[in-house]
Formats: sequence, C-alpha cells, structure tokens
Amino acid sequence: MGGDMSTGIQAGAGTAAARETRSVCPYCGTGCGVLIQHDGQRILGVRGDPDHPANFGRLCAKGRTLHQTVHGADRATRPLWRDRDSGGSSPLPWSEALQRAAEGFAGIIRAHGPQAVAFYVSGQLPTEDYYVANKLAKGFIGTNHIDTNSRLCMASAVSGYKSSLGMDSVPCAYEDIDLADCIFLIGSNTAYAHPIVFRRIEDAKASNPDLRIIVADPRRTPTASIADLYLPLKPGTDVALLHGILHILIWEGWIDRAFIDAHTEGWEALKALVQDYSPQTVAEACAITVADLRRAAELFGTARAALSLWCQGLNQSAHGTDKNTALINLHLATGQIGKPGAGPFSLTGQPNAMGGREVGGMPALLPGHRDVLNPAHREEIASFWGVEGISPEPGLTAVPLFQAMERGEIKAVWIVCTNPVLSMPDQAQVIRALARAELVILQDAYLETETGAYADLLLPAASWGEREAVVTNSERRISHLGQAIPAPGAALPDWEIFRDFAHALGAALDESGRPAPASMDGSWTARAQRLFAFSTAESVFNEYRETTRGRDLDITGLSFARLDRDGPQQWPFPEGAQKGRARLYGDGVFPTPSGRARFRAPAYAPVAEDIDARYPLRLITGRLRDQWHSMSRTGKVTALFQHSEEPLLEIHPRDAQRLGLKDGQLCRVSSRRGKVVVRAQVLATATPGVLFLPMHFGARFAPAGECNRLTLPAIDPVSGEPEFKHTAVRVEPLAFAWTGAILALLDGEAQFLAARAVAQGFPYASLARIGGAMQNGFLLRLAAEEAPPAWAVQEWDRALGIGGADALDYQDLRRGVSKRICVREGRLVAARLFGETETLDWLRALLLAGTDIQPYRHALFAPTVPQQLSAWVPPHTVCTCLGVSETVICAAIAQGAKSVEAVAQVCGAGSECGSCRPEISALLRAPVQEAS
Ligand code: SF4
Repeated sequence: MGGDMSTGIQAGAGTAAARETRSVCPYCGTGCGVLIQHDGQRILGVRGDPDHPANFGRLCAKGRTLHQTVHGADRATRPLWRDRDSGGSSPLPWSEALQRAAEGFAGIIRAHGPQAVAFYVSGQLPTEDYYVANKLAKGFIGTNHIDTNSRLCMASAVSGYKSSLGMDSVPCAYEDIDLADCIFLIGSNTAYAHPIVFRRIEDAKASNPDLRIIVADPRRTPTASIADLYLPLKPGTDVALLHGILHILIWEGWIDRAFIDAHTEGWEALKALVQDYSPQTVAEACAITVADLRRAAELFGTARAALSLWCQGLNQSAHGTDKNTALINLHLATGQIGKPGAGPFSLTGQPNAMGGREVGGMPALLPGHRDVLNPAHREEIASFWGVEGISPEPGLTAVPLFQAMERGEIKAVWIVCTNPVLSMPDQAQVIRALARAELVILQDAYLETETGAYADLLLPAASWGEREAVVTNSERRISHLGQAIPAPGAALPDWEIFRDFAHALGAALDESGRPAPASMDGSWTARAQRLFAFSTAESVFNEYRETTRGRDLDITGLSFARLDRDGPQQWPFPEGAQKGRARLYGDGVFPTPSGRARFRAPAYAPVAEDIDARYPLRLITGRLRDQWHSMSRTGKVTALFQHSEEPLLEIHPRDAQRLGLKDGQLCRVSSRRGKVVVRAQVLATATPGVLFLPMHFGARFAPAGECNRLTLPAIDPVSGEPEFKHTAVRVEPLAFAWTGAILALLDGEAQFLAARAVAQGFPYASLARIGGAMQNGFLLRLAAEEAPPAWAVQEWDRALGIGGADALDYQDLRRGVSKRICVREGRLVAARLFGETETLDWLRALLLAGTDIQPYRHALFAPTVPQQLSAWVPPHTVCTCLGVSETVICAAIAQGAKSVEAVAQVCGAGSECGSCRPEISALLRAPVQEAS
C-alpha cells in the first residue's frame, strides 16, 4: 500500500492533475493512513486513506494540513559547517561533510574509546533509520549510548509492560475501543493528543449506550467532556488511585480469581500492599471523593470488557513505571486482558516510537525485543551482525546522557530528527552540555530548530513523502510509506546518511590507527562495507525482519510487497501467517520465564519535587490540539495557530485572584531552574493549585515562553523518563512599562523570519501566524520595561516592509506612543502599535477581512476601539478546518442546537476533522449563550 497509485485525480482547485501515494501521518502514534497527492515533484494535497484501519479516511487538523509543511525556505538541502564563534555556516559537499564527521568521531574514539560518542535519535524516524543507527552504534562503533526522544514520552510504558507482562508488547487493538463497555482514560488528553482515536471513542459511545467512560486527570481537559465519571486527582497520585481501586475490587469481589490463579504470580504481595489503600486514605491522597473512587472501581470491576488507555500523564513521571504496573495490575486482577474490548492499551506519542522499540533503538535494547543485559541476546545479535560482541553495559538514557556530556564524558553527539534544546527538561543544562561537547552533529529536515544553534555540522535529511519506509503505530500495525517526491537538494534518507557515514568512519578509524577487529574483516573499512551494504530501504527492512524470527514480534511473514498488497498489518505476522494478530495473550500465556504475568506491588511515592512556601503551585506541561512537538512542521501552517497563538498559562480563577492576576495579563512563572514570561489564561475548568503550559513553543515563536526552562531533570529509576507532569513553581503578575505589537500581511517568508529576529531579546515576545481563507500574515506581541530606541524601530520597519508611500504615522512622545499604519489600495496591510495596543484585535480583524478602511480612517490611531466598532473584535476560533468561531457556535446553541451534530448542521463546526467536538460539547454544557 505504500506505492504510487497514479490515479490522476485532481488534488484541489487550481492544481495540476495529481497522483496519490500511500503514506502515514508523521505526527502522533495513532498512525493515520494518508494519501499524498502530488505531481511527482511537489506535494499538492493530502486526504485520509479510507482503507487504512487506523483512521478509515479521517484526519485531524494537523494531518489535514500536512501538505503545507513540506516545501519551504527552511528545509535543510545541503550539509553545512557552522562556526561556533560567529554562528555563520558554510555549505559542504556530502563527501567532505561525512569525512569531517568521521574524522571527528574517529579521533574521539581513538583518544577516549567508543563510550565517548553518543546518538540521540527520534520516535519520528522510520524503522529502517532506527535499525541502521542502532547497528552503527552498537554493532560497529561499540557504544550503547543511543537513546531517543521516545524516552520523553513512552519509556515508562515500555518498562511497565516488560515488568508486568514480560515483553514490551501492547496487547490491544483499536477495534477494542468499539468492543469495550468500560473505557478508563488515565493521564491522556486523547481529544488533543490522539484526536482520531478520540473520534473512535465518541463513535463507540454513540453506538453503545452501555459504554461507560472514566477519565482520570488532574486537568479537566476536553477529553473529560466524554466522561461518565471524571476523577480530578491530585498530580502525581496515580499509584495511590490505582491501588485504591484494586482495594475496592478485592473487597467487593470484583476480581477474577480463576485468572489470577492460572495466569499470574505475585498476587499475595500485592494484595497485602493494597490493604493499606483504604478508600478514605486514597480519596484524601488523591483529593477526590470516596464516592467517585468507589464508582470508578465499580465501573471497571463490573464491566464485561474493560479497556484502559493512557499516555504521558502516567509515563512522564519519576514513578512512571510504577504507575504503569499499577494500572496493568487492575487488568490482571480482573482478567481484563487478551479478550475483545479489554486490556491495557498504551497510546504511543510519536508515529514510530513502537518501531524504534522493535529494532532496539534504546540504550538497553537490541533488535527483536532483546536486551543488552541478556548475554544470550547479545550473542544472538552479535552473531547475526557478524561482530565479536555487543558491549554488555546498557548505554545512558537521555537525561543522564546530556549530564555526562556536560561533565565532558560524552564528547561527540549525533542528534537526529529531534530538538532537545526545546524538548528536554531543564533546558539550561542541555545547553551547557551541547556547549561543552567537542562535536555536535544535527541531522534534520529543517534548518532552524533551537538545537541548530549549538550544532557544528548540519546534515540534511529527507522528510515525510520523500523516502520509502515502514512505521508501526500504537496498535502494533506496520504500514508501508511510499515515496511521493524526491527529497530537496542534497537531502537523503537518514539510513543512507548513516550507511555512508559508517563507510567514512571505517576509513577514518583505519587512518587513525585504531586497531581493527582482525578476526572477521581485517580492517574497519572492510567491516563497514560488509555491515552496511544496504542499497534500498527494503534491504534494510529485510535484514531487520530476520532479527524478529521466533520472537514475540515475529514479522517474517511480511514484506514490502505484502504490505502493498494486503495493507497495513499488526504483528506478530510470522512466516506462513495470513494475517497479523489483533490482540495478544488470549491464551493466558505471557512471555515470562514462568509463562505467568507478574503483579507488581510498588508503594505510592510522592512527586520528585513537591510544592513549598517558595514554589507553591504545581505545573503540568503537555500538548495543544493543533501543534506538534517543537513546531518545525506545524509552525508553518497558519490555520494551526487559530486555536492557540501563544503559550498560555492555564490558571484557576481562585489562584489568579489570590495572585492579583487578570485573564490575559503577562506573568512570570519561576521554578528552581529558570523562569518564563507568558500570558495568563484564567480558566474556570482549571484545577485550583495546578497550572498548565504547552510544550511546543521555543525561541522561534515565544523566546521567553519555553516551558522546559522550568522543568526538572528527575527521572524514573527504571524507565529513565523525566517528570514533565509535575514541577513546583510560583507565579507573579507583571506590568511592563511598555507594550507593543506588529501585525502585517505576509509578502513572503522572509518577512516572517524578520519578525522572528525582532522578537529576540525582549523579556516577552510571541510570534504567531494569523490569517484565514483569504489572507496570511503574522502577529508579533512584545513587552519590555522601556520603549525600544527610535533607530531600532526604523530598522525593524525596514526589515518588515512596514513603510514607504503606504505608511501613515502617529507619534505622541509625551505618552511614549509610536504607531504606523500601512494602507494599500484602501485596505489595511500592516500596523505597528508601540506604546498603546488596545486597538490591536480590531485592526487585526480589519486587516484579515480585507475591509475598505475608508469608513474607519478617523479611528485608526484611536487609543481604544470606538464603542460602535467593538463588534469587530475577533472571537476565539474553535473549528480550525472551517474557521468557525466560538461566537458563531454559541449563536447556533442559542438558536436551539442541542448536540454537536446539530451545531455542525447549523454552522459546520465539528463536521470535518472533529478535533473541535470536545470544545463544542463544553460550550453545549455551559450556561446558555446569547448570540452576539
Ligand atoms: Fe496525524 Fe491526527 Fe492521525 Fe495523529 S490523529 S496520526 S496527528 S492525523
């Protein structure tokens, strides 16, 4: 199914006739099938693949706009060498780039040994890339220091599954959502992080009136809109909650004693432990009611089929493994596993985090679900690769790896398809580490990530749609991604770069005089040529496939041709099989030495950094609905800014009132490690004492709003996953003496980049794309303690193209106000409002609507919006696909629409990708709105 379908369909109005190539969305682990519409050179559009079993044609707002992310001036198209002192970079041919990389690695390996080099890769890499990178590190160089940004999202699920069930294997399938009669969502804002999975839950709820849904989350997220029971537990208390539920299950006899006796071990120790987790004790620890706790236990314990879905809320914790095993305990105690509609189902954050685990792309893993610590596994893989051995020590996980780099122990790091300066906890530490490293190589499809500023060598990678590959989604389903168009410039698939580097490194190691492993090859050069003889992505896949033979994830029955013929398949799919297996452990046999699943009995432990008098509030970080990770892709799409333009600090009205903080006011959030300046969003649905900041915004969009300046490097001792879901912070309202804003229609991307340059250095700045069906532009908001000097303002006007014959100026030096409005052919095209910004929203509405401004000329420089014009102020956009505002939806509700479907019929909102349906549900539940 990865092939070019050459259907000759029209990609959309005004585009040339297009072919379609099957692929998968490169964002979340839902793994939605996508048909890429292209002309062989450019990607012109996308549509959901109606035949893909993950989404049956549906796509969320992010997936629907994928085609807008591919072509751009910021694509990396040739290798660049960056001068650390000047920050300037110069292009290199591939041969020279790889030689410099190889000489750098060889010199460090020669002087300090292979443990002085490391790789930090990504859950967005396809399986082939992961496999070759892992073989390069562990099989050729001899270092196990290869970790991945999947460490930041699902490592605790891996360790939980392995600890409880014996293997890192998700036992469920998406079809279990349709078959469950209790769904327990814990630590997952599915509505935002996995929107198409959430649509499936909505459908299940609509078609099965008996389905009961429990949502446990410290934040009342949009996911709670679907809950029959919402548990607003105190952050970090999940283990107590889960033990408390088990306590009640035992007390009420809602356990499956026969399953426990036949298929598990460790029950008595767990039973003894949870005796102490009485409903009263747990309700107090979790800050929920005893009645709600009992109700949760009843819904789960009396269900015919109970399915748990979880994500970062459980995983991103210093006790993430315990949280995972405590949840799996509930399934083992009730026999809710291995049958239709039941089981513990971890939702994978990234598109191929599962594939990375399969090929052993983590420091303690080897291909085919093998472990570095297992001598037999090391021997099997060493023998398969034809090398003398694998280093017996697991490598460092992400946080300790960057700490070792800061200490000077890791001297070279190769970062691939990820942006650790933005995404790792304790940002200042990561920056110190990269500054200390002797050689930093960054391999990415995009040039301007925050990490790029610390790289010595930038290598251009092919991206989505530009190379062939396979990925595995959350339900163990492998899809074949076709290549639609060539990669830009000299960009190459990641596996090809690793292969070519291995060949260059072989020569450099021989040159450096490092003794060659004589027994098999005679020289490093010969060894590299033997180990990395891959000619196609398929040749890599075929080699990896062999490592799965006889393992729990056996895919020896799969091939690119089979995936093309029969469509995406779940593993295991051994040779001779006709189809993959939807769910695992139906026979009650688990891949442990005894064949029994293991009850684990972790005691509840408090968060790593608790609140105190100096830092009295709890901060959670996480995802927004329409942005992805560090916005390298989604930051290009105007429509994806409509829902959230900047990082807003969600805060409860009671906390805001106590702090003297108003909705929309700027504030400083501080932790023991750093501070950010962001705008407050006072939300009645927020939990008192609990704050939320989105994870996406970095120096490119909100230079003072990077949430990982605050987060702590505490990690789970087993999984190594950081505690992103709890940081102790304090908040102080800010009143800057000067505020400013610039908005303009875009003549080109250079103008947006110029606005980005202006944003740097301000104590507060946020840059967003604005627009609609007709116009694209940018909005830059600024604040400082004093007005910028006149010469700087003149320079910015020039750089941003705000001036010339189109410009009208207003100055009030006494009040420090300086405004410029640009009008072209009677339409507003740009506005700079320095020192007075109250009319910003109104001017923005005029600009985006393309309105003839003649009737409003008298008010363009007014200090506030004249009363009779205030209806122009733009409302919040809820439906990104159709650009429908909250005001329009409230009007539909006021006119009698009583359901999401009815709202969709009246105004269209919610009828396309459906990502906004939870927000429409919340508006339906709110007090009746007046149409405005
Ligand atoms: Fe992509 Fe959205 Fe599907 Fe996730 S749910 S894979 S982001 S289309």
